[in-house]
Amino acid sequence: MKEINNGFEVQQLENGKGVQKRLEKKLQRVIESAWPVETDQLIVKITGDGTMMGSRLHITNFGFCVITDKWSSEDMILAITQMPEKYDCIKEAMKDVVHDTLHLKSVTVRGKVFSLKYVICADLKFTNIILGLGACNSDYCCAWCKTKKCDFYDVYKTLDENEEKALACTTEEIETLSKKKSKKYEN
Ligand SMILES: [Zn+2]
Repeated sequence: MKEINNGFEVQQLENGKGVQKRLEKKLQRVIESAWPVETDQLIVKITGDGTMMGSRLHITNFGFCVITDKWSSEDMILAITQMPEKYDCIKEAMKDVVHDTLHLKSVTVRGKVFSLKYVICADLKFTNIILGLGACNSDYCCAWCKTKKCDFYDVYKTLDENEEKALACTTEEIETLSKKKSKKYEN
């Protein structure tokens, strides 16, 4: 089994609760298989989601795909973990993914250097968890704005920053909120 795993370059997570592949090698393979790739600027879409197998087994998976102006790769698996979709578990499971996305700014295939930009795409639950926000049914559950749950009916609110009461939340505001126990914006 170990030999087979080595062949596929599968690593076990530190806590033993999952397996993963490293981003750089997977990226190189994806680019290689799509050769020739016309552009040298790639967007890497990172994704993740949790699910249940039966009534007890929690599974949380991470993946990615590569996007250019004209083409998108298939979704590829980065990690499969036997952990619930919760902040502490995702923090642990995504440690290498976070490290790789912070440090890997380009990848070289057949001598051609591709610059990398990262985006995250996930459902609201996963998005709120990785941002450190409250649950999807909490008062301030939107990852983009500071609208309170009870005001969601008002579709005329605007995210426009020039408005007196800008509703869009900044990354700084999200960071502050993520460190607070009560997930509430002050205004
Ligand atoms: Zn919103």
